[in-house]
Amino acid sequence: MKIPFLDLKAQYSSIKEEVNPAIQNILDNTSFILGKAVSEFETNFANALGVKCCSAVSSGTDGNHLVLWALGIKPGDEVIIPVDTFIATAWGATLCGAVPVFVDCHPQSYNLDPAKIEKAITKKTKAIVAVHLYGQPADMDAIKEIAAKHNLIVVEDCAQSHLAEYKNKKTGGLASAASFSFYPGKNLGAYGEGGAVTTNDEALGKKFKMMREHGSSEKYHHEIYGHNYRMEGIQGAVLNVKLKHLDKWTNERRRVAKKYNECLKGVEQITLPFEMPYAKHVYHLFVIQVKSNDKNNRSAKRDELQKFLEANGVSTGLHYPVPLHVQPCFNSLGYKKGDFPVAEQLAETCLSLPVFPELTDAQVEYVSDKIKEFYK
Ligand SMILES: *Cc1c(COP(=O)(O)O)cnc(C)c1O
Repeated sequence: MKIPFLDLKAQYSSIKEEVNPAIQNILDNTSFILGKAVSEFETNFANALGVKCCSAVSSGTDGNHLVLWALGIKPGDEVIIPVDTFIATAWGATLCGAVPVFVDCHPQSYNLDPAKIEKAITKKTKAIVAVHLYGQPADMDAIKEIAAKHNLIVVEDCAQSHLAEYKNKKTGGLASAASFSFYPGKNLGAYGEGGAVTTNDEALGKKFKMMREHGSSEKYHHEIYGHNYRMEGIQGAVLNVKLKHLDKWTNERRRVAKKYNECLKGVEQITLPFEMPYAKHVYHLFVIQVKSNDKNNRSAKRDELQKFLEANGVSTGLHYPVPLHVQPCFNSLGYKKGDFPVAEQLAETCLSLPVFPELTDAQVEYVSDKIKEFYK
């Protein structure tokens, strides 16, 4: 059996009849940048999240930057970021000229560990970026309590957490502002680059709309600094179609996760993802940890399992094999191996199994059986 890590073709063929005319409509109207489809999507996405304002932008990375930029993060400021995330979270700070300050992740949720945040706060700290990694919300109440005590802004990186919930509230409305990615492989994916920023603060929402369009609300009149962070019309049209299916697709991801948990329960050499009591996890990724007895080569067993699965037709991924503090681009920040033990262990033992809405129970059983076979 061949099981891809992700199957975008299966999803496209299931909505072809709906999405093709929506794209054709954009071509017929030549509304290539922003336009009606994008503004409809902004309204629909804001409603789906229960937030007041949504501005569609050109990517999640651009959204990460726009959020911090609009909130006044500037050169010399420090921004607290989980060390285990995709690099784009850190670019949000560096594009403002600010310094990313890393904090280790929680051993069960894999998100920013609230107990380790205060140590990282200095006089220069201005903001905390909470990432809802793999689709599981970070512990926002604990993070916001620390932020309030030190007068810091909190923003969310929701690139992996569309429709995820923290204490029954959707991510994207849990802090001052949030950014989403619609990269094709995300839970809600465009047919190209795309992203959105959301907030419940209407003044900030207006600012986002101006800043994504060269700092203007009227053409050629530039009131504030900005950039070209606009969404394309075709992406708005595609996202409008796909948003209607997102609830169903999210439930299917949760079904896949539940099936893996049933099939793999009791395999003591692996650690399954843990859904925190406060969280509704949307399983952008289903990440297991592969235990190893070799302290000097913790990734050996994981790499062996990955090869075994590949040889049996199962594609897997690593999210993420190198934590941010040891990325060469951040050498000048002065971190070293050993600084963040939880993230470092995760990097060496993590393995992402296939998860997408169209994955069948039989396929999940096959993957699970192969894992069990590996350990026999
Ligand atoms: C994908 C991702 C981004 C970046 O989104 P793009 O749309 O690819 O620019 C940012 N943060 C996290 C956590 C991501 O997973």
